Amino acid sequence: MSESGELDLSGITAVQERQILSRLLRDDFDQWAEQAARVGHCAHPIRLTGQSHTLDKATGSVLSTFASSSLPDEVLYVRCNNRRATWCPSCSRTYQADMWHLLKAGAAGGDKGVPASVSTHPMVFATLTAPSFGPVHSSKKPGSRTQRCRPRSRGELCRHGTSLSCMDIHAEHDLLAGQPFCADCYNYDAHVIWQWWAPELWRRFTIALPRLMAKCLCVTQKQARSLVRLSFAKVGEYQARGVIHFHAIIRLDGAPTDDDNYPAPLADVDSEWLADLVRQAVASVEYQAQPVSSASPGRLLRFGAQVDARPVHHRAGREDLSGAIHPETVAAYIAKYSTKSATDLDPGASRANQHLARVRSTVLQLADLAYDTYPPGLPQPPNPYRLLGKWAHMLAFRGHFASKSRRYSTTLGRLRSARRRFERVKALSPHGIVDMAALEQDAAADETTLVIGDWRFIGTGWITEGDAVLAAGASARAREYANARPSDRWRTASGTSTAPATAA
Ligand SMILES: [Zn+2]
Ligand SMILES: [Zn+2]
Ligand SMILES: [Zn+2]
Repeated sequence: MSESGELDLSGITAVQERQILSRLLRDDFDQWAEQAARVGHCAHPIRLTGQSHTLDKATGSVLSTFASSSLPDEVLYVRCNNRRATWCPSCSRTYQADMWHLLKAGAAGGDKGVPASVSTHPMVFATLTAPSFGPVHSSKKPGSRTQRCRPRSRGELCRHGTSLSCMDIHAEHDLLAGQPFCADCYNYDAHVIWQWWAPELWRRFTIALPRLMAKCLCVTQKQARSLVRLSFAKVGEYQARGVIHFHAIIRLDGAPTDDDNYPAPLADVDSEWLADLVRQAVASVEYQAQPVSSASPGRLLRFGAQVDARPVHHRAGREDLSGAIHPETVAAYIAKYSTKSATDLDPGASRANQHLARVRSTVLQLADLAYDTYPPGLPQPPNPYRLLGKWAHMLAFRGHFASKSRRYSTTLGRLRSARRRFERVKALSPHGIVDMAALEQDAAADETTLVIGDWRFIGTGWITEGDAVLAAGASARAREYANARPSDRWRTASGTSTAPATAA
């Protein structure tokens, strides 16, 4: 229902309308609405049935019991927790907010157990791209001076006679952006093989950087570890051409001691020094990929020549003239991209993206080729492309979209359990106002109580399409509301119910 209390029923089927009306007329509608709000109007909630008992650890007495039989339709809903905005706008938003907190804590400190002093450590925001596999149309980059796609005054042609010049200015979501000038010239095989090994290139980068650091400090790697420690958080993002690139926050700490987990580095180094080393390390990384078939060449893989490594400085305000950026800007930027995936690039079958379709079919072709070359049953060598076909929907990217080194900051798991605790206390508080003392008491109670649950998975999604329409409407309005208040932009949508903890 909108803020004026009206329900917009345009564009729904007669069946959905009947389901919505019967839901609204039920006596337990308020209870249902409360439960829907508690899972943040998740688009594909998980349905559970069962019960849990909270016991006093010392005496074993039952303090409370919670059962799905007391709920409308006798079902407990739990958030899907999917990070993809196209799958679940609500959970994706929560994921993005959590991601921002996690990234911000590591970049700016002063939060989640990370001291504010980390923001003075050498820090770099780096973007590691893929090389070119053939010219593609590109949208104008915010802030860049070149606006036109690919101006060529002499009217360059490819060997198929296709023009390789484009004077247009493509907007960010222009469908032409990312499409090759000539699909016959574009090296789809190289694109797919690079994407498949991208996680390996990243891993090699995380090894090359500390090595290079030791070399520059003229010490052994072991000695270097007692002076400087690397921490990072990275996310993968698809470019319009369907190839992944990595954004990373890279921070230098000293070696942790018993009473300081985040000391400053012991060497006299700064963000500019680190940025320079990051560029050198990226340029040095290479990986010789095994050939896909006995007839195809092995490939030497590298990152693209364009390496953006910018120092991060905690100065008041926005970016300064040296190109340095503010930690919070970096965290917001990375968090934004953590909810995109390969499917978000393709705006539906009606406007099918031919280029991405060809990347996908190339993945399947190469998977077949590899199968013929490395047939199962032969002991050596194992087929490194064994699972390639399974990743066609991800355009052959099999890595993690977001990852971080252990010491960077807190974890998503810890943030989620903190929110569950917050929601539990909020649900018990009159008028939804959370008493901080109650929150602390609840955290303490966690240590003295034991929750024994017996829950069964029934399915995913709302019971009827009508319920799904109601939830989607409420979720959209919640987002509109948050967008209208910039100060709340990163506020977490109403969170997970207490159930996942008890059901686990
Ligand atoms: Zn969800
Ligand atoms: Zn163009
Ligand atoms: Zn061509």
